[in-house]
Parts: sequence; structure tokens; C-alpha cells
Amino acid sequence: MWVSASLSPPNSSVFYYAGGMRCVICRHEDTKVVDSRTAEDGAAIRRRRECPHCLHRFTTFERMDEVPLMVTKTLGGREPFERAKLISGVKAASKGRPIDDDAINALADSVEEELRNMGGGDVPSTKVGLAVLERLRALDEVAYMRFASVYKNFDAAEDFQREAALLDKSPVS
Ligand SMILES: [Zn+2]
Repeated sequence: MWVSASLSPPNSSVFYYAGGMRCVICRHEDTKVVDSRTAEDGAAIRRRRECPHCLHRFTTFERMDEVPLMVTKTLGGREPFERAKLISGVKAASKGRPIDDDAINALADSVEEELRNMGGGDVPSTKVGLAVLERLRALDEVAYMRFASVYKNFDAAEDFQREAALLDKSPVS
């Protein structure tokens, strides 16, 4: 999980957070990521964050812990979470659609952050797919449908289909 995060220089203090990043000014518990990009050849992510409470903006550098995020497959087996694989899947689904690389990177960041904040244990592959679907749906209906159909072929488990059916009924936020 993303356990260590430091404020950008000159303040280089290291903070430990199990969940979201607290506001450095008012200590509000949850801050919104407004921009993120990889740094140090992918070993860290530089995030621009905004506090919804006091609107203060600050930058963090977050490093990946040595422990990889593990994904368990519904049909058995487990493998490390691969951001590149997720991105290529989303890109394939978004082909010809008005979704740029920034949006796809932001989606991948958001999915990875959600998965890493789930408690540090293994994450079922259905959760990964659904986390992508939720975000893709808000971006583009066509890409969402494509990803959903490919994803079902990869992991055609009953629990996925049940959850996907629930997702279909929920309104687009
Ligand atoms: Zn604040």
C-alpha cells in the first residue's frame, strides 16, 4: 500500500497514512487528488491535492511500499496488481473514444488508491474490474460497455455478473 508520503520540498517530513491524505492545514481527513503523475521513473507518484474543507492545495510524493498489491482470481490463483495491464485494458476499451491519456492515468491512480486503501490484504479481481467500470462509466458509456464485455470474458464468475447487474441499476453519478 502507499504507506509513506512526503510533502514536497522544503518540507520533507514523512507521514504514514492507512487511508486518505489529511489536509496539512486544517487536518481534514480526506483530500481530493486534482492532479497526479509518476515521478522517479514510476517509483513514486506526485500528487496535487485539494482539501474540500479549506480549499488548501498541496503536493505529495507517494512511494510504493515493497509489499505488492495482490489480486486473487475468482477461478483460483493470485497475481500482483499490474497498473500497466489495467491501463492497456482501459485504452483498448477507449479506442476511438474521447478519453485522453491523462484521464486514463487518473482512472488508474484512483483505482489503485481505492484498492490499496481496502485494508492491505488481497483484493479480489472482481473488485478491480468493478472499480474500473464505475469510473469508466462516468467517463464514456461506450468504453464502459466494451470494458464490461471483455472483463466478463476474462472472469466469467457469477459474483461478478451479479455485482455488474447491480452497478447497471445504479444511477450515473
Ligand atoms: Zn483543509
